[in-house]
Amino acid sequence: MSLSHIVIIGAGQAGASAILELRAHGYEGKLTLVGDEPHLPYERPPLSKEVILTPDSARVEILSAEKLAALKVTLITGNGAERLDPEARLVELENGDTLGYDKLLLATGGAPRRLPMLDSLAQQVYTLRNLEDARKLITVFTAEKSIVLVGGGVIGLELASSASARGCRVTVLEQEPMVMKRCAPAALGEYLVGRHRAQGIDVRLSTGIHSAELQGEEVHLLLEDGQTLVADAVVYGIGIVPNVRLAITAGLEVDGAILVDEHCRSSHPDIYAAGDVAARRNGADRPRRIESWENANHQAAIFARHVLGQEPPPARAPWFWTDQLGINIQFVGDMAAAQWHLRGDMASGTDSAFTLIGVSNGTLVAGITVNQPREMRNLRKMVDKRVCFQPEQHLDVTRDLRKLA
Ligand SMILES: Cc1cc2nc3c(=O)[nH]c(=O)nc-3n(C[C@H](O)[C@H](O)[C@H](O)COP(=O)(O)OP(=O)(O)OC[C@H]3O[C@@H](n4cnc5c(N)ncnc54)[C@H](O)[C@@H]3O)c2cc1C
Repeated sequence: MSLSHIVIIGAGQAGASAILELRAHGYEGKLTLVGDEPHLPYERPPLSKEVILTPDSARVEILSAEKLAALKVTLITGNGAERLDPEARLVELENGDTLGYDKLLLATGGAPRRLPMLDSLAQQVYTLRNLEDARKLITVFTAEKSIVLVGGGVIGLELASSASARGCRVTVLEQEPMVMKRCAPAALGEYLVGRHRAQGIDVRLSTGIHSAELQGEEVHLLLEDGQTLVADAVVYGIGIVPNVRLAITAGLEVDGAILVDEHCRSSHPDIYAAGDVAARRNGADRPRRIESWENANHQAAIFARHVLGQEPPPARAPWFWTDQLGINIQFVGDMAAAQWHLRGDMASGTDSAFTLIGVSNGTLVAGITVNQPREMRNLRKMVDKRVCFQPEQHLDVTRDLRKLA
């Protein structure tokens, strides 16, 4: 089938990346990017970091209006897709307009998982997913305010760090016994709890909320351990729910996320999905959804090359990063590795720089660098090559990882 019109729903990371990939790989047909937000495509990682810490200089734009024009892309903003008809190959937008397509990419991302107990307060309660959310937080995180962050995941800890840097008194409530449990080993979690506490952030583990009420301008939280916390504002980050409504109503295979094959193709051959909304089957493994900037870009590239009949980009172990309290942490590979080994010194204070190496069945399957971004390149190579773990070499800091990679 000749391709004359590709439509991308969702003008976020995967959507913008797909545009760049399609044009870079020779697609010359019509290209339409449909966004429900009023903005040009922008990046989300700075929202919890630079946008709050340095609002005047933070840059988030992925594609400028000039770049979109040069790429001959029709960008529709503030007018999301409302309905899909896969058989007629039609998308209906919120304003009733329809678009025909030959191939369609769903890159609709996700929305914050809701906590009805807090939402019911209707005031002084915030979540973070988009630029407007971040701009609100800039006005909320002012000096001396007392802020409670519910959820000790990546976003919760990044926000704790940003709020603390803006002079707030910060408490983090995590119901699990460790922070970042979903995406990092306990050793890193313990290190981060120590660093956050050293910064004056009150991190409370294994702590749930029993009830919440608004008293005047304050939120009163009754905790499950019987204690009460009073806050000027509560921000919660307890994960996301993929935006699958369009896919469900179009009859695509969905199981929490849109299920796609290794080419990012959904159960309908003309419709693909990429990024936070997609769970991709790769080989014999169960479909897996990955929430990261790099995954959104990688899956966009897989989609673009497949519709153009080209070779996929090389497979690589998943990679992501977080920045908190001035510490840069990068992760590669399988965070469920059976054992973790320390290379370097974890306890040397604020400037500590070290690496954690994840091993399963004698093979190096994962790595985490803390304040050692340069080591990540070597670790990635080692994880991609699945090198055999050799503790006497890999854990000896006098040995250059570059030479072992
Ligand atoms: C605050 C924050 C910090 C982060 N920090 C990091 C980090 O440090 N490192 C890292 O690796 N990852 C980070 N991430 C994750 C990363 O940003 C996401 O994984 C990535 O943005 C996913 O890209 P996406 O295109 O799938 O979704 P998104 O970028 O969310 O884009 C989806 C877009 O689709 C739109 N949309 C939804 N429904 C419709 C519809 N029906 N019609 C039209 N448009 C629609 C949405 O409004 C949105 O604009 C962070 C995320 C957040 C929120």
